[in-house]
Amino acid sequence: MNMVSRNTITTDDFRAAILRHLTYELGKDASHAAVEDWRMALSFAVRDQIVDSWFAATRKTYDAGAKRVYYLSMEFLIGRLLKDGIINLRLLDQAREAMQALGQDFDTVLADEPDAALGNGGLGRLAACFLESLSTLGCPAYGYGIRYEHGLFRQSFVDGRQMEAPETWLLQRHPWEFERPESRYRIGFGGEVSTKAGKTIWTPADSVDAEAYDTPVIGWQGRWANTLRLWSAVASDGPFDLDSFNRGDFAGAARPEALARTISRVLYPDDTTEQGKELRLKQEYFLTSAALKDILRRFDSEHDDIGKLPGKVAIQLNDTHPAIAGPELVRILHDERGLPFEEAMKMAQACLSYTNHTLLPEALESWPEGLFGKLLPRHLQIVDRIDDAHAKANPSRTLSARSDHQVKMGELSFIMAHKVNGVSALHTELMKTTVFSEFHRLHPDRIINQTNGVTPRRWLLSCNPRLSGLITDTIGEGWVDDLEQLKGIEPHISDAGWLERYAAAKRDNKADLANWMAKTTGVKVDPAMMFDVQIKRLHEYKRQHLNILEAIAHWQEIKANPSADWTPRLKIFAGKAAPGYFFAKDIIRLINDVAKVLNADTDTRDVLQVAFLPNYNVTLAERLIPAADLSEQISTAGKEASGTGNMKFALNGALTVGTLDGANVEIRDHVGADNFFLFGMTADKVEERRLIPDHAAQAIAADPRLGAALKAIRDGVFSPDEPGRYHNITDNLTGPDYFLVASDFTDYYRAQREVDAAFKDKTHWMTMAALNTARSGWFSSDRTITDYMSQIWDAKSLRDS
Ligand SMILES: *Cc1c(COP(=O)(O)O)cnc(C)c1O
Repeated sequence: MNMVSRNTITTDDFRAAILRHLTYELGKDASHAAVEDWRMALSFAVRDQIVDSWFAATRKTYDAGAKRVYYLSMEFLIGRLLKDGIINLRLLDQAREAMQALGQDFDTVLADEPDAALGNGGLGRLAACFLESLSTLGCPAYGYGIRYEHGLFRQSFVDGRQMEAPETWLLQRHPWEFERPESRYRIGFGGEVSTKAGKTIWTPADSVDAEAYDTPVIGWQGRWANTLRLWSAVASDGPFDLDSFNRGDFAGAARPEALARTISRVLYPDDTTEQGKELRLKQEYFLTSAALKDILRRFDSEHDDIGKLPGKVAIQLNDTHPAIAGPELVRILHDERGLPFEEAMKMAQACLSYTNHTLLPEALESWPEGLFGKLLPRHLQIVDRIDDAHAKANPSRTLSARSDHQVKMGELSFIMAHKVNGVSALHTELMKTTVFSEFHRLHPDRIINQTNGVTPRRWLLSCNPRLSGLITDTIGEGWVDDLEQLKGIEPHISDAGWLERYAAAKRDNKADLANWMAKTTGVKVDPAMMFDVQIKRLHEYKRQHLNILEAIAHWQEIKANPSADWTPRLKIFAGKAAPGYFFAKDIIRLINDVAKVLNADTDTRDVLQVAFLPNYNVTLAERLIPAADLSEQISTAGKEASGTGNMKFALNGALTVGTLDGANVEIRDHVGADNFFLFGMTADKVEERRLIPDHAAQAIAADPRLGAALKAIRDGVFSPDEPGRYHNITDNLTGPDYFLVASDFTDYYRAQREVDAAFKDKTHWMTMAALNTARSGWFSSDRTITDYMSQIWDAKSLRDS
């Protein structure tokens, strides 16, 4: 058992390092320093320690001539990094003591850090968990992404409606990154393709430069660190047009820079609809081309035989967003390096693999060939040659990446990857029978499953110190990087004293959250209530409207019989809607309107309240998840590819009320059906049910509670100043109801009453919660990454070398 829990640096030395940075790096006198200055100084002192591991890891990788993994993703939802670094370096005691000795409140300093929100939701957070696990496992790796000036918008509510403001995380200096002006690549767009002496030459009309910024990603115990390399767009010909300036045209002089910068200016704030915007394709090519140029430069510096590329380079495409990597790598190998086309294509396939994240048709990327060809004329030709080569090798089929005047990024990724993975068992099976059924018949070994995971360092050790302290007291701290060891707490659950400690951790976490909510939102809640939490992006398939409908129906039931023995419950929501997704924004407003009515109702508010917390992000998730009793994972079966929020909750001892969708299926298998509140139709049943023309009307007719809840919304009970406000929602739910809210309502309501009954028996509830923690070890992203390493990348750990 590994009980060494502290870094060897002393508090005094660490305090001296902080002061040194404050004085000489920031130029601040301790007596005048603001919180932000202290945070910077602390960050730099932590960073010093990270840099030592980082260099050591780089040296080991070069010395071993090892294969590297390159994770290409348009999103990295990393959140705050200071506490993460402190935890992984095991500097928590020293950092806290040093800040105290310097007269600073440690938690205030930590809370000053902006949340780096360079992603929308699950896909971006997965990329961040994967980077941390790659470092913990000591697998040489780079994450490649875009250094957006503005990450996901900041959300607030005005009269219950979502307002969006730009996220300005770079307003202050970002202490974790190193600018790398020497790693700069020219990225071309448009122009012409010509042939000279048998060689194809692409002459772009425009270009921007990609400049690198590196952030080290430290693994557990500081034993390894990898790099997150983010690209920033700058003008190719210098920042500024001197001729215009000299003519007195100052705005014109700055225009090239402004235009170039547009590419890395903002993250597209929609994770489920493909928008087909030119700027988005530019961003995708910008990231991918810069990454590939960087990968090949590094390869060339170590090897002279390009044939070794697949043995040294594994490139993972996080969804189709970097799918242009296929044609781009072929272009480089064939046009620039002179490999025969089919050999170039084979080599690219051996390097590339692709993760599919969604089966929603509206999210599958495709580009009109006109737009694609205008921006990337040579790549369009290469897409055709890829199709030709694929057809030649597989003569009986006619599957292609270019069809109906579109370039289809899913098909392109499938053809160009040696492995294609889904993100949960159910999702992978559905991939085989739906979107990629024909491709699967042609290439039956290509699709494999890799169920997602989450890093236990952030999602248990760091965010839930009370529970992780109890676990470490019980079984030692080996669980932190071997999460299946959590099984070791299972024998203790029947010990009443131990279970009381488990319950106390949850109780104290809830009290903290209640205090924080009172302070920041003014909402006063009793921590003895059940905390029922649904936090995730707003989407019809995630069905926040099913949750609020259930709240309304239950409220009506309580009102009819206020003195019955109801189980007190607080429903907490958080999540952002894409700015152009009006239906999702209506759901947010409805939840806020319902909250207003219910929270003011003196007959019911002691047993039912609703709160929608603004600006959901990683930090808010870290605050809410340890305090949750109930985890809402209620998507329409077949629509949520995996989910990772569901895993964070189970690990932290929240029971799930959920459908058989995504990784819920595997969570239920692991924690046991008795410790999971299942409801709803299966994916098969959903497809059958949708064929019934009046499925919603039938469901409503069969359940008066549902009819009454819908009627209350329609009659304006929650919007008395504007009774018609939610007709859009009620029309949908009584009509097409594509996501089967009405048809799943009755069983959901039943499951929720089962939850109520179970919550009354505290010992039984806490036993189930602790069993969820004990049996969730498999959902560590360390397990996921270990499997990617052996089954997709053929990459080895160098941590212990
Ligand atoms: C984990 C996480 C997600 C993903 O949540 P799901 O419930 O799986 O959709 C999204 N956003 C943040 C901030 C997260 O931490």
